Amino acid sequence: MNNISYKRAESVENAIEQIGSEKESSRFIGGGTNLLDLMKYRVENPEHLIDINHLDLSKIENSDSGGLILGATKTNADTAYHEKVEKRYPLLSEAMLSAASAQLRNMATNGGNLLQRTRCFYFYDTSTPCNKREPGSGCSALEGFNRLHAILGESEHCIATHPSDMAVALAALDATVHVSGSEGDRTIAVTDFHKLPGDTPHIETNLEPGEVITGIELPEKGFEKNYHYLKVRDRPSYAFALVSVAAAIELENTTIKDVRVALGGVAHKPWRKPSVEKEFFGKGANTENFEQLANKLTEGAKGYGDNDFKIPLVRKSIVRALTEAMNK
Ligand SMILES: Cc1cc2nc3c(=O)[nH]c(=O)nc-3n(C[C@H](O)[C@H](O)[C@H](O)COP(=O)(O)OP(=O)(O)OC[C@H]3O[C@@H](n4cnc5c(N)ncnc54)[C@H](O)[C@@H]3O)c2cc1C
Ligand code: SF4
Repeated sequence: MNNISYKRAESVENAIEQIGSEKESSRFIGGGTNLLDLMKYRVENPEHLIDINHLDLSKIENSDSGGLILGATKTNADTAYHEKVEKRYPLLSEAMLSAASAQLRNMATNGGNLLQRTRCFYFYDTSTPCNKREPGSGCSALEGFNRLHAILGESEHCIATHPSDMAVALAALDATVHVSGSEGDRTIAVTDFHKLPGDTPHIETNLEPGEVITGIELPEKGFEKNYHYLKVRDRPSYAFALVSVAAAIELENTTIKDVRVALGGVAHKPWRKPSVEKEFFGKGANTENFEQLANKLTEGAKGYGDNDFKIPLVRKSIVRALTEAMNK
């Protein structure tokens, strides 16, 4: 049996103070829907749990720049069904409601959602080598069963995907993450928040140890007219994405004024290429251009056997998601 201490933090400052010098052996706990699973599998073995659910971080408020700030401890359900989120950022609402199950969404928090860990089964199975769990031990998925794994941005050290649906929509919307730590407050663009695996797949985000997520900021522009979150999965509920597409378009008659495409289930982080999107500004919103955009966004995609099917699947999904968004 492992001894674990449990403390409630009373304020953000208090949470940072409590984690203090015990950063490596401590974890903040939100809804616990991922952390407790990982503890049961002995993948995560924290000695100290700091409960952050009682901090004043559960509001959804207007931001100074005309957007919205989603509190880090607000649940996924309350965020997705919030009047302002549904009205101004329906792409985010749709993505969040496609995730997990109603019960899980009632527990899961916005901060915890961004920090949930990969669903690679070898990562959960402590009897197999896994560089993410134990750096330098090897990657069982490379030559193993890799149907769920990455086709873009992967490395020879890790081919895991990031599982969050919320993060994919947030990447398309250009959201930023607000964090606080002993060095002060800062913001990180969602597109820079998660890291590609490289040769350090165990370092998954640009969050420093001991930093707490306090909120997520959405910019003013919400693409509330033409959007679609397409999630392709094995079952209609309770299943992670094989591939997903967060598509948002701003149209001027039949011309693309602005377009965003973020992909889930294909990489170690939500996959977005703003420079490719920009090439299509001013072009016609039609199938031919959507196909070209899909090919360019997925250039260099590589399969590992069981996941080869994801390459044509994601390209077709991009075209479908953009078509649905355009016809909304
Ligand atoms: C059966 C099942 C199916 C699922 N299906 C999906 C799905 O289809 N799509 C999807 O997106 N998700 C899915 N999920 C994952 C679920 O969405 C996540 O488990 C959940 O969002 C995590 O949030 P939490 O608050 O419970 O995090 P926790 O489990 O509490 O924490 C996760 C991690 O984040 C850290 N943390 C939490 N909050 C903060 C904070 N504010 N600052 C710093 N660190 C923090 C914790 O220390 C921990 O390391 C599924 C989960 C299960 C169990
Ligand atoms: S893909 Fe990544 S998480 Fe999965 S076994 Fe390989 S190193 Fe571990």
